Amino acid sequence: MRAEQLRNLPSVERVVSYAALADLVEGYGRAWLVELARDAVGEARQRVLAGGAAPSEVEVVEAVRGLLADLVRPTPRPVINATGVIIHTNLGRAPLSDEAQRAAENAARGYSDLEIDLATGRRGSRQAHLQSLLRKITGAEAALAVNNNASALLLGLSALAAGREVIVSRSEAIEIGGGFRIPDVLAQSGCTLVDVGTTNRTYVRDYADAVTDKTGAFLKAHASNFRVEGFTAVVGERELVELGAQRGVPVLHDVGSGALLPTERYGLAHEPMPQEAIAAGVGLVFFSGDKLLGGPQAGIVVGKRELVARLERHPLARAVRIDKMSLASLTATLTHFLAGEAERKVPVWRMIAATADEIRARAEDWRGRVLAATGVETAVMPAQSAIGGGSLPGETLESWALSVPGSLSRGGPEGLLSALREQEPPVIARIEDDAVRLDPRTVLPSQDGSVLDAIGAALRVGGAV
Ligand SMILES: *Cc1c(COP(=O)(O)O)cnc(C)c1O
Repeated sequence: MRAEQLRNLPSVERVVSYAALADLVEGYGRAWLVELARDAVGEARQRVLAGGAAPSEVEVVEAVRGLLADLVRPTPRPVINATGVIIHTNLGRAPLSDEAQRAAENAARGYSDLEIDLATGRRGSRQAHLQSLLRKITGAEAALAVNNNASALLLGLSALAAGREVIVSRSEAIEIGGGFRIPDVLAQSGCTLVDVGTTNRTYVRDYADAVTDKTGAFLKAHASNFRVEGFTAVVGERELVELGAQRGVPVLHDVGSGALLPTERYGLAHEPMPQEAIAAGVGLVFFSGDKLLGGPQAGIVVGKRELVARLERHPLARAVRIDKMSLASLTATLTHFLAGEAERKVPVWRMIAATADEIRARAEDWRGRVLAATGVETAVMPAQSAIGGGSLPGETLESWALSVPGSLSRGGPEGLLSALREQEPPVIARIEDDAVRLDPRTVLPSQDGSVLDAIGAALRVGGAV
């Protein structure tokens, strides 16, 4: 029986010669279609050998189309973030403002004055406009944008302290995630790490005692993804700047997130701000473009003119250069902060600023529409939204979520969650107390209809409707 089923499977040749695949053979070339057909027939064989039903010829041909569609589908695919985690690294961090999107698109579409001075026709700087915005917003003497914050730090340490010692508090020799560790970055930059103090307490005298004629910098790094609580002490920027001035050692501070607005305004703990570090006299401040700044992937360095100039002259500067699309959208994003409209225009800040009452009203609206469309009763429950992206660990915003009980679905909450991921666009949610929770805070207003369609579809898949 099985042997006969295997014999009856179409040959690769037969599949490729199917009229239904003629357009694909023509477009993508016969050799590639033969390869895909071999995969599809192989899969069918495996299925039969495992005791499954043999697919028909037409099904094998359809499988070839499916394999091809997977290969040519544009990636990354847009998804809807209903997790309530605002800066979700796995979901691409910060969504861009309309203006920032348009700026990137314009830079991509045609030629631009990227490196030409239109007044003189001579070569210009790609960073000039961005640098003046960053100087105005942070109060720094000079600024530089590169590919991301990790590369900014690598560049900064390589340019200022290669072959020298860099003094770091033991509480700040951190791992940020994705294999990015301060001690490794120091080693890669050719610096020697000198760690001082203890995990929970470091004093300014610890730094002072460690200074030698080989010291190249004091480095502070914001412990952005964990919290040390209780009997702790860290050295503030001003104290360290004072010591640095006495001993001729520049202070570098990796603040991580680049919060240009005060987070305490929204009931959160205070996140270090680049402008505060500049006001304290820090030599160089490093931060990301796509965390709390709410822009594209980028690494930003602001600080003293003489130090930034050394970074610009270093050979690595070219290797970690920012691309024109990120440059354009970063400039547009910064303009929102300069114009005092970031809270309205930058999605990350709009999400942070949304009140619990506004979120609750949206969740109630979803509940009513799910009921009307499917007849299924869901609930609106209190929830906590998180900032994410290694910012403000343990800090949450009071929120509300639509709660879809897992008991409604044959597959339970996991079944609902995966059915939501299978929709177009996929919806990413989370499970709490055996229910799927969807937090409207991180769902863009234009996506409400898609979320409701996805919930309806997931309930049907699970047999609830
Ligand atoms: C996130 C983070 C980085 C890495 O920034 P990327 O822009 O992702 O390269 C570096 N340092 C700190 C403290 C961070 O929080």
